[in-house]
Amino acid sequence: MNPFVYFIFYVILLPLSYKVELRWSLSCSVLISIYVLAAQFKHVSYETILFIVFFNIIPFVMEKFKRNFNAYKSIMRNEIGSVRKSYDNLMEADKKQLESNLEIERKTQQVSSLYEISKEMSECLTFEDIFDIFSSVLRKSFRFRLARLVLLKEPNDQIDSVYEIELGRTYAKVAPDNFDRELIEVIFQERKEILISSMEETRFSRRLFIIKDFDTLIAIPLISEEKIAGILYVENISRAYFENFFILAGQFAIQLQKVILYKKVQDMAITDSLTEVSTRRYFLERFREEIRRSMRRKSSMSFLMIDLDYFKEKNDKFGHLVGDVILKEVASVLKSTLREIDIIGRYGGEEFTVVLAGIGKEGALQAAERIRSSVEHSVFKAYDEKVSITISIGISSFPEDGVDERSLIESADRALYKAKEKGRNRVE
Ligand code: GH3
Ligand code: MG
Ligand code: MG
Repeated sequence: MNPFVYFIFYVILLPLSYKVELRWSLSCSVLISIYVLAAQFKHVSYETILFIVFFNIIPFVMEKFKRNFNAYKSIMRNEIGSVRKSYDNLMEADKKQLESNLEIERKTQQVSSLYEISKEMSECLTFEDIFDIFSSVLRKSFRFRLARLVLLKEPNDQIDSVYEIELGRTYAKVAPDNFDRELIEVIFQERKEILISSMEETRFSRRLFIIKDFDTLIAIPLISEEKIAGILYVENISRAYFENFFILAGQFAIQLQKVILYKKVQDMAITDSLTEVSTRRYFLERFREEIRRSMRRKSSMSFLMIDLDYFKEKNDKFGHLVGDVILKEVASVLKSTLREIDIIGRYGGEEFTVVLAGIGKEGALQAAERIRSSVEHSVFKAYDEKVSITISIGISSFPEDGVDERSLIESADRALYKAKEKGRNRVE
């Protein structure tokens, strides 16, 4: 038989035995062998027998090859799968690393900006300045519905003032509402920050939810000298901001405490604690200012030196505590009789001084007379005593009696002496 025909048979059988099951390819090879044997029925050559043997071995060889190849393929597939998995894990880890780097970077930025803010606040000396910084940071860096700062009157739980901060709006001073009052009560009971979420009920949340609806609420007590000086609360702030809000609010509370103390020290330096009029030092400062102003404007002004009559006797008769109440009451008569712009000072023990801005001698005489008569007709209740007192007043006016502090004081002092000489309870 033509060797080309054998070749064709091989070409048919080889891919066939790879593609189909062993029994089919074997059937095919046997059929072809029978056909070849039939074709050469009478003279079967050695080549033909060799062909048939080889030809029928092919399906077995291919089957073996196929098995090995498939096993190898599945090993390779597994290998590729595990490499891919490792690669995915690596990518995931890489992503996590990147995220955590970003988170660290974000936190670092936040911490450094919080540090900058607290540094900025620490340089402020007034409430307005720290509140300005605080409210602008709150609006810029946090997401919330409303924040309020409630400041209390010292030393009780009465509300003094309320400031409001909203997103996209500068802060404003507003009237206190029921929610503020209720929250103050809760804070006074708790004495620490509270966090309320609509998701969980606490012993006070229901009470607050009745008044206002919110998802979350953080309220922080602002403590100064171990007393609650106010509260800061924020509504519907998202959880992501909790931590930073606590840090910022904590910084604000510290700075607020500093400002309150600073103001107290400042007030102590300028306000006499018993009579709540200016101290001598502060009065003299403002007196000098007023003289300069009158000089510039070429306007008049007057100075009063006021001394309580026979005050020593009152002290001796009723005691020093009653004497103190008299001093306090006389000061309050002065305050209520004079205008806002007039300056009142406690010059010495029981001596008061007054600057009447823009008032000449004539006006000063009238004002002094009004004060004198008002004190004379007042009856002060001091402990169990009812006491009355009179005062003597000496007047000097700018510029006729003097153009500087010293000459005006001396002139008023001389006038006061004259009033005392003439029998007291007088204006000179
Ligand atoms: P005169 O009419 O001459 O002014 O008689 P007077 O008794 O008021 O005399 P003087 O002005 O010298 O007396 C001052 C008294 O004021 C003496 C002092 O005991 C009393 N005094 C001064 N400061 C205080 C104070 O802070 N509290 C009390 N209770 N008394 C004071
Ligand atoms: Mg005196
Ligand atoms: Mg006196």
